[in-house]
Amino acid sequence: MPKYAFFKGDFVPIEEAKVSIMTHAFNYGTGCFEGIRAYWSEEDEQLYLFRVIEHYQRFHNSCRILLIDMPYSVERLVEITTELLRREGYREDVYIRPLAYKATEAIGVRLHDLEDEFALFALPFGKYIAVEEARACVSSWRRIDDPIIPARAKVTGGYVNSALIKTEAVKNGFDEAIVLNEDGHVSEGSGENVFIVRDGKLITPPVTANILEGITRATVLQIAEEELGIETVERQIDRTELYVAEEAFFTGTAAEITPIVEIDHRPVGTGHTGPITKRLQTLYSAIVRGKVERYREWCTPVYPK
Ligand code: PMP
Repeated sequence: MPKYAFFKGDFVPIEEAKVSIMTHAFNYGTGCFEGIRAYWSEEDEQLYLFRVIEHYQRFHNSCRILLIDMPYSVERLVEITTELLRREGYREDVYIRPLAYKATEAIGVRLHDLEDEFALFALPFGKYIAVEEARACVSSWRRIDDPIIPARAKVTGGYVNSALIKTEAVKNGFDEAIVLNEDGHVSEGSGENVFIVRDGKLITPPVTANILEGITRATVLQIAEEELGIETVERQIDRTELYVAEEAFFTGTAAEITPIVEIDHRPVGTGHTGPITKRLQTLYSAIVRGKVERYREWCTPVYPK
């Protein structure tokens, strides 16, 4: 259990970080959030925040879309996060949850003329998708469209769409789902971006496909090119391309790189983790723990040395 939170401008014991049932965001989903990981390195005796700057830049963008006035700069948010983790003294992998939300205790659906608040907590965190190789289905739900609830912003209310997708998949015996856009093209997972491999090339939907512009996605695009010399094509993906792909995987802060070995009861490729997926997984797990010099700047140390 976490011991502290950052709440209403201060570090407080976690039990004191409470909101009212009248809070606007609780009633209407008018908040946005981030999900950040920090990785413990036994070798360095250090906790590394992974791409924390990019997470807080995206957080600022979500706030902008929701008309949330964010008083803290990206740099200040990183400081607050570091301070919270130091106070809690973690020596294990951690998940960090910043939230910005409409805090006024009032009735009335809107975004304007409301007070905004920022809150932050962290908790120990292991694997998000419990299995090593995921079996996925295509969801019967559709992804929220940009003019409905923008998926580009990590809006709390928008995660009802993700929850519907995830629960349907799990209740039907799958580990995760891939959701399509209104036009029938592939969007993403309930909390992950999706990649496939065809003819040895990586393919992923573009940022205009109602996806969250994933930081793990951006990481994979870059390391695939720089370290493996594999190009990624960002283009629309048809549902049936999922069935004929050589490999497929999910990417996300929580899910990391999770191989997809079956989609709608059809094996993906051989039905086991593919070679490109495996290489990316190995690289990614080294990078996030600060073991690859070239990407060391993505890892922000929490403890002073
Ligand atoms: N899509 C959705 C809907 C998500 O919730 C997430 C997790 N934040 C992602 C994609 C992956 O994004 P990231 O790699 O930045 O965690």
